[in-house]
Amino acid sequence: MKKRIAVLAGDGIGPEIMDEAIKVLNAVAGRFGHDFEYDFGLIGGAAFEEFGEHFPAVTLDKCRRAQAILFGSVGGPVGEMSSAKWKDCETKSILALRKAFDFSINLRPVKLYEDLWHTSVLRDEVLAKGIDILCVRELSEDVYFGAKSIEGEDGARRATDVMEYNEHTIERVAKVAFAAATSRDSKVTSIDKANVLACSKLWREVVDRVAKDYPNCELEHLLVDNAAMQVLKRPADFDVILCPNMFGDILSDEISVFAGSLGMLPSASLNAEGFGLYEPSGGSAPDIAGQGIANPIGQILSAAMMLLHSFEMKAEHDAIVDAVARTLKEGYCTRDIAKDHTFVATSVMGDAIANFINN
Ligand code: NAD
Repeated sequence: MKKRIAVLAGDGIGPEIMDEAIKVLNAVAGRFGHDFEYDFGLIGGAAFEEFGEHFPAVTLDKCRRAQAILFGSVGGPVGEMSSAKWKDCETKSILALRKAFDFSINLRPVKLYEDLWHTSVLRDEVLAKGIDILCVRELSEDVYFGAKSIEGEDGARRATDVMEYNEHTIERVAKVAFAAATSRDSKVTSIDKANVLACSKLWREVVDRVAKDYPNCELEHLLVDNAAMQVLKRPADFDVILCPNMFGDILSDEISVFAGSLGMLPSASLNAEGFGLYEPSGGSAPDIAGQGIANPIGQILSAAMMLLHSFEMKAEHDAIVDAVARTLKEGYCTRDIAKDHTFVATSVMGDAIANFINN
């Protein structure tokens, strides 16, 4: 199959870990007989140096012509944020990109590989049951987008944030969650606060309705405060967690700790047409950029998510996930996930994963 991918590596460790993702995609193309065409574009500080702006029209054009976007990370050192190159860099690049394509659903899988138990804060008997959770979060509504105000006299001011949801939005994200669950362990846990919030009452009603179209999927409803506890006590009981925007913001960060390192975490953002942006959850990590020690796995697994969600290539996706597991089993670790002081370079990790795709 021929696919065109816009590749925006960005800043800091972005280009280093993107090189490894391309290496792995090339191995997949070779094994499965695909033709991936990469259209490389600049974004963030790298684009500012070349074009004097963080998200130039030429980059947007590349994204428009592609069938998916593979993104690295943007931004500079926190101490240099006032320079023209780094000022508002994230807002003007990745946030502008998300806005341009109206990404309204975020997918964040969190898996703890058996060979990374040493990175976990949980007890071995909890880990032994396995942790493999997909967080599906709605991105376009909720309290973040409702009317806001601060009114009144100093000392007696009153602040308001309006939480809003419409049925169509809930239905759309619920369908994505159930569809994802059918290719996993067929369980959806829907998060709300239906004991007090009207938005959550509507959320629960619509999720129940969508669930009827997926009779082979189990549905559990949990109040968000209880969910925050249960996911720590019994993570193995969770498969797909379906969240409204704000609850997902908080819960997805809570469960991300299970993966062992920020460098292990991929993510996907989808719009209503199913067009996707795929990026690791971490930032540009300027503290380790250029040293060849960044963990490329989050970027590589983001590429795997692109194959699954944008190109419907499940076998190819599974081949990458399997190659990552085998690489870790062989003892390959970058510095962030190393058990002792022995670790391999970013490129060695990428080589090993690409090699396991072919063998
Ligand atoms: P960060 O995520 O870049 O780094 C936090 C910590 O995690 C650092 O110690 C870093 O070394 C480590 N880390 C992150 N990714 C890693 C990897 N793949 N392998 C090994 N270690 C890794 O967050 P920060 O330091 O707060 O922000 C740095 C810059 O990144 C800022 O300019 C910020 O605005 C930007 N940022 C960009 C994005 C994005 O592009 N989507 C997201 C978050 C932050």
